[in-house]
Amino acid sequence: MIRVKDLRVDYDNMCAVRDLSLEVHPGEVCGLIGPNGAGKTTTMRAILGLIEPTYGEIEVLGVDIRDRPEDVHRVMGFMPDLPPVYEDLQVWEFVDLFASSYGIHRRDRPSAVERALDQVGLRDKRTTLTAELSRGMRQRLMLAKTLLPDPRVLLLDEPASGVDPQGRIDLKNILKRLAEEKKTIVVSSHILTEMDEFCTSVAVMERGRMVESGRIVEVNRRIMGDALIAVEILEGVETFHEVLSADDRAGPAQRNRDALEFRFRGDAAAASELLAVLVKRDVRVASFSRRRDNLEELFLKLGSKELS
Ligand code: ATP
Repeated sequence: MIRVKDLRVDYDNMCAVRDLSLEVHPGEVCGLIGPNGAGKTTTMRAILGLIEPTYGEIEVLGVDIRDRPEDVHRVMGFMPDLPPVYEDLQVWEFVDLFASSYGIHRRDRPSAVERALDQVGLRDKRTTLTAELSRGMRQRLMLAKTLLPDPRVLLLDEPASGVDPQGRIDLKNILKRLAEEKKTIVVSSHILTEMDEFCTSVAVMERGRMVESGRIVEVNRRIMGDALIAVEILEGVETFHEVLSADDRAGPAQRNRDALEFRFRGDAAAASELLAVLVKRDVRVASFSRRRDNLEELFLKLGSKELS
């Protein structure tokens, strides 16, 4: 677990992070989001112990990083933005090189390398030259290297930046598996739509301050209100209204052109259950769309709130 309390970081005369408190639990993927210069990297560097806070407390797995920095470093893995790779090495050689620098014994290295490549889905690329990897694969290679010492806490700076949609799906699945292993994960990004896919919680930063934080669904609900569902019905409108009035998560439906729209206080899984009930009750549904939790929209709302 990571616990940051009242963090402040000053660079010379400028305050880069102020009054920042944050908790990230094992199994959580927390998205640290905000525009360029918001203070995300500074926060990560402070958590890693690379910058001394001007004020505030930082604990990792219950240990204050000022008291036992070595112990904290041992459990943390950091993947910087745009990490360099050695172009003339094969994928396995690259990971092996780092395994050796982490002090993993020669005898244990082959299995450690294979395990790390497995974790990021790069086993079938083991003999490919790193220079020939796509950007998404390079990011995964860096993640493999970061995972070698089996860190319990992972800090990834902009891991999805410039990665194509398939690469993002791969990354999302990897992060999901790592979270299932109860790792504590923080991922930063200034591209908000990316974070929708990766994170279970968000911490939104602006000009050094935290403007919103919590589980994505809750933050969305707080800022955006309930989700809006639009349904087009061919037959069974009366049954549709009956089903809706029996579901206390649904508000009353109103017609908007061809669709009936209603507010719904539930996540995607709950919306899909509602659709299943409608179909089971013989309502002929031509289309059913739920406005996705959209961090970009959320961020715009937060931004306008900040400015007003
Ligand atoms: P980006 O998305 O561009 O990486 P960020 O949210 O990570 O931005 P930081 O890099 O933490 O933001 O920077 C926060 C503020 O602190 C910015 O105004 C930046 O110019 C300033 N800053 C960062 N590093 C230093 C430094 N070493 N010396 C002085 N000012 C710095």
